[in-house]
Amino acid sequence: MNWQPVDCHAHSTFSDGALAIPEVVERAAALGVRPSMSDHISRDVSRTIDSVDGVRQYLDTLDRYDVLRGGEFCYHDSLWREIPDDLVARFTHRIGSLHAIRLDGGTLLHVFSRRPIGGLTADAYMDAHVAWLEQFAREMPVDILAHPTLVAIPFRQTDAALLWTDAREDRVVGALFAAGIAFEISNRYPPPERLVKRAVDRGVRISLGSDGHTLEQVADVARPLALARKLGVPDSALYDPLAHGSKTHAELLDHKVRRA
Ligand SMILES: [Zn+2]
Ligand SMILES: [Zn+2]
Repeated sequence: MNWQPVDCHAHSTFSDGALAIPEVVERAAALGVRPSMSDHISRDVSRTIDSVDGVRQYLDTLDRYDVLRGGEFCYHDSLWREIPDDLVARFTHRIGSLHAIRLDGGTLLHVFSRRPIGGLTADAYMDAHVAWLEQFAREMPVDILAHPTLVAIPFRQTDAALLWTDAREDRVVGALFAAGIAFEISNRYPPPERLVKRAVDRGVRISLGSDGHTLEQVADVARPLALARKLGVPDSALYDPLAHGSKTHAELLDHKVRRA
């Protein structure tokens, strides 16, 4: 079969997506993309899978479809720490997200919060953001960091060159490389090309993610794929849990090799 891109990151009605799983699968097939489901598994998202039993039902449902079995876990929430090993092993891949950042004083700042954050400068925020990302990479056993450049709402309009200095980019890329965590090129929160290039040059694996929630969004990885190709990443090196294995389902790769 010809190579097809994998959308490692998409949502269904199991969390905050608009489509049922078969609709995501059908849309991906129409776009020539291999689909994943990666619904929110966290107690700190509004529409989400918020219990171990809920995770089991989710995986039981995914087993009925030809779809990669992912999940998007908030690092700051504790649910990912509570998933028993037998369930962990059923994911093809897991995604970690920084949906809240621990600030210097210990306060947790939700990146989607619209509450004013008096006195916090972009520099102070970014230093906390990168330190939190480094802690995430050391601690969380995931395969992909979702939307690596998603920042808190007050800083979304700030010039990326001010936020993503050379030093901060180096720290992000170094942390992901050391942990073996892939850098997601998100179609929803597109990263600056310079940062992606730095990740590629460092040897960090690249992953494509629509982060789609609707029919128009799911499985649309055309722009992320175009950027990866522009930066010289071979298609076969783009993260595919079935080809490259994962921290959560390491035996997949063995199995594939044994069958070959
Ligand atoms: Zn997310
Ligand atoms: Zn997402």
